[in-house]
Amino acid sequence: MNGPVAMNNVSLDVRNMQEVVSRAKEAVALKCHLLTDGIRIEQGSFDTSKVNLTRRHLYDYGTSVPEHEVPYEIILHWVDVATKRLPIVARVRYNKESPWHLVRDGSEQLVINSVTGDRSAVKIREVADFRGQSIMGQPLDSLVQRLGYDLLGLVPTNYCAFYRSGGKCAFCEIVETHDDLIGRTAPYRRSLELLTAASVAAAEQDESVTSITFNGGQLNGLDETVRMYVRLLEMISNHSATESLDKTIACMPPEDWSLIEDLAGAGLNQFFINVETMDEQVLQYMAPKKSEIGLPRMFEGLERSINAFGVGRVYSNLVYGIQTIGSKWPAKWLRASDENAAMLQQAKELLDRRVVPTFTVYHSSGRNSTGPIRLSGDGLFRFTIEYGELVRDSGYIDPARGAVLFSIGSLPNTTYNDGWLLADMATRFHSIESGG
Ligand code: SF4
Repeated sequence: MNGPVAMNNVSLDVRNMQEVVSRAKEAVALKCHLLTDGIRIEQGSFDTSKVNLTRRHLYDYGTSVPEHEVPYEIILHWVDVATKRLPIVARVRYNKESPWHLVRDGSEQLVINSVTGDRSAVKIREVADFRGQSIMGQPLDSLVQRLGYDLLGLVPTNYCAFYRSGGKCAFCEIVETHDDLIGRTAPYRRSLELLTAASVAAAEQDESVTSITFNGGQLNGLDETVRMYVRLLEMISNHSATESLDKTIACMPPEDWSLIEDLAGAGLNQFFINVETMDEQVLQYMAPKKSEIGLPRMFEGLERSINAFGVGRVYSNLVYGIQTIGSKWPAKWLRASDENAAMLQQAKELLDRRVVPTFTVYHSSGRNSTGPIRLSGDGLFRFTIEYGELVRDSGYIDPARGAVLFSIGSLPNTTYNDGWLLADMATRFHSIESGG
């Protein structure tokens, strides 16, 4: 008697899962298009007083500057997985030429494609973005950025020794972004006391914050950069509001290998050494100073980091969009199939080294030396799916974590968590389908 009931439940679960997976896929596909095509924002389409606003031109996807406020991100969909509701969130890359348009419809917001007429109901979440507050005499929102809904981001310095010595990465816009935002000033290096106080103040006022990341330029010495992070991590680990936050940094490998152990000892949870590309030639012209450090040394740093942090906690980032520009440099268009194949090959090589690959989706506000590269939303979606399957199948990420890094809602500006989530859902789906 139990048999048919159980089978009915299974078929109901399967139908539900099919529907859930299919709707999540649609949302991730839309996210890919919003990241590659950008979006226009209709004035008055949201309440500017309660949401996290974009404050940097980095993501404007062109040199056009919006005349009105732009939300930082849009929630495209909520996915029901087991007992959790997970958001698919897209960063707003403002582009006044985009076919995608955020509009208000009564009390709701819609994203409408003006060419195809496709419409999707979306939400803009109300979150604290620290406007109107100050810490040690400086505006808190200039020190702490709200990234996604549960992640804090701080930039210790916009100075970069690579940049200053003429070896700036060709995709970098860190100084230009700062100049756009604040006006042309001397490069800054924030005191560790100020960074700690700002981290604590931001974490204390919002319980939904679970993670923190520090990312800035390289200081004059590789070891000096890592020592700065060790000290900063020790300081934030001494405060109850920040000690339990999940902590992540990215920098180049130190000369003194023992500093990697020091990072782990100071409470760091995840460490990135970003190769950007595994192609030596591309690395040479995209990131000349990283090329001087060389891929072999970065790989050694990654291997030593795995000893300190464990498999699944050591990452390297690749830039989606620059891998196959090669002889077409400076390229404005890419063949998505070539780029996807190159990215997947490089992701596999990193996984073979037990390193978790991640990726950023190339963008330019016209302030770097690479300039705009036209990406395909469909191509990015296909890559996102294949990347997700690859990393999910590697088994390096414990499914209980629910994402490759941070949480599914933390990284609206890239799609690696989304791809992994879709692959994880498919794995669960097959398990239910086969009665497992
Ligand atoms: S290391 Fe980072 S901050 Fe320095 S030039 Fe490269 S991308 Fe820019």
